[in-house]
Amino acid sequence: MITVRVPAKVNVQLGVGGLRADGFHDLANVFFAVGLFDEVTATPAEGVMLSCTGPDAAAVPLDDSNLAARAARLLAAHHGLAEPGVHLHIAKAIPVAGGMAGGSADGAAALVACDALWGLATPFETLLELAAELGSDVPFALLGGVALGRGRGEILDALPVAGTFHWVFAVADGGLSTPAVFRECDRLREEAGTGSSEADVPTPDADPALLAALASGDPVALAAALTNDLQAPALSLRPSLADTLRAGTEAGAIGALVSGSGPTCAFLAKDAESAAAVAAALRASGTCRTAHATHGPVPGAEVSAPRP
Ligand code: ATP
Repeated sequence: MITVRVPAKVNVQLGVGGLRADGFHDLANVFFAVGLFDEVTATPAEGVMLSCTGPDAAAVPLDDSNLAARAARLLAAHHGLAEPGVHLHIAKAIPVAGGMAGGSADGAAALVACDALWGLATPFETLLELAAELGSDVPFALLGGVALGRGRGEILDALPVAGTFHWVFAVADGGLSTPAVFRECDRLREEAGTGSSEADVPTPDADPALLAALASGDPVALAAALTNDLQAPALSLRPSLADTLRAGTEAGAIGALVSGSGPTCAFLAKDAESAAAVAAALRASGTCRTAHATHGPVPGAEVSAPRP
């Protein structure tokens, strides 16, 4: 039995370029891995089997569309294994369709877990390539830490970070579909008269002030530099998120933004004590389902030590 722990991400910068001819958007995407984890446990079985537990388990598909199952089959095909055998159990703590890349995290964890279970010793570079085939956010869940993603997000460069930042995540009731939020982004750009195509929108780039804040470990500077081009479309689709953002800020958060495509809201706190207070205030505010205080950056998908 192999258990792999894998973190959620928040995008501290998410710059969205114009709509490309292939239907994707160019992104300047600074991924930040935080201490909210799924655990994927692989045990020997016949065929690829899935199970899932956790508060959002009912929303997780247990068929071949699940990214963990797709990862197992992709790794097996890469190594020419005709009949892969594994039972993957997902202990899910990352909100589903929450803008924290939980499905991608499970895909990355399944790659690492099956690689260990089947004794394949696949080079990390190859796992990263297989991850990119599964989806734009999957390579980062392998890498962890903080990284700049370009292209669709799958071309990654690790970024230097000093110290630890303290975060709070307010989990909403229900999810938001990432493609729907991108479509709303395009619609709002058209409505504003700026246009939404590649020719209309400048190619986004990493913000030097944000990179400097990460490298110096300065939470106030990072809070000032947080940006997410998907925040306005997420708020347009789910206006009540403005109440959540306001509740966290009033409770003392130094920065607030929608996480990725939402609807989870992310708050930066000045220290661990303040993060605990912001989480408690959010839970009491009635503007979210629950709130978690945590920290980051944390490492990517890794095999956990067996429990005694
Ligand atoms: P992102 O931030 O990468 O856009 P997200 O965090 O908003 O993603 P996910 O939790 O990754 O959203 O799930 C999006 C959809 O993917 C789900 O609604 C579900 O149908 C599907 N899915 C496939 N595999 C998984 C999985 N292992 N866990 C959760 N959802 C999965």
